[in-house]
Amino acid sequence: MKLALIAHDGKKNDMVALAARYLPLLQNCSLMATGTTGRRLVSELGLEVDCLLSGPLGGDLQIGARLAVGEVDGVIFLRDPMTPQPHEPDINALVRACDVHDVPCATNLAGAELMLQAWARRF
Ligand code: PGA
Repeated sequence: MKLALIAHDGKKNDMVALAARYLPLLQNCSLMATGTTGRRLVSELGLEVDCLLSGPLGGDLQIGARLAVGEVDGVIFLRDPMTPQPHEPDINALVRACDVHDVPCATNLAGAELMLQAWARRF
């Protein structure tokens, strides 16, 4: 399972708490993340994460590029709908890439829970 994890600043605590609840599953996944999100998962949970660039510096686009060539099986992207993001075009590009390639993409906690529960049953 190749899983990409991204959380906007207002959602990073939620991402860490979510990952803590699914730690055994995530320990058996190949994880990549935008820079700041990934470093928190590494330092706070000890997960092995390929930390890419920070989102505003191109990290979302890096994930999109990997996804387009089949290197991402799912995306958990905890977006903050209340805060304008300078890299909104990159965010839209990543979500579009998920739709183009039919890769599951959860953009809120409830969807992320469903995705991880489904994978936990499968693997
Ligand atoms: P970050 O990027 O994990 O480096 O904060 C996420 C984002 O804001 O898109």
